[in-house]
Amino acid sequence: MTEREKALIALRKRQENPPKKIDNGSLYAGSPMYFYCKLCQAEIVLPEDFTCAVPQLCNDCNFIKDKGFVKVKEWFDD
Ligand SMILES: [Zn+2]
Repeated sequence: MTEREKALIALRKRQENPPKKIDNGSLYAGSPMYFYCKLCQAEIVLPEDFTCAVPQLCNDCNFIKDKGFVKVKEWFDD
């Protein structure tokens, strides 16, 4: 199996089992912030005081994007 096939199978598994979404507004102050990958819905957790831009993709999907396994870029270019 190629690296691409493995990555895409793992992606499909993540898409089929999306995590329960957490509403950041319902959390107490100081809680980490929950975001979700735009491609696979995986949870992306950042500290409440994070200073980076909110990531659109989880690490695994970033890898897929970097490798060009899936054409992701144009999906997010608004
Ligand atoms: Zn993802």
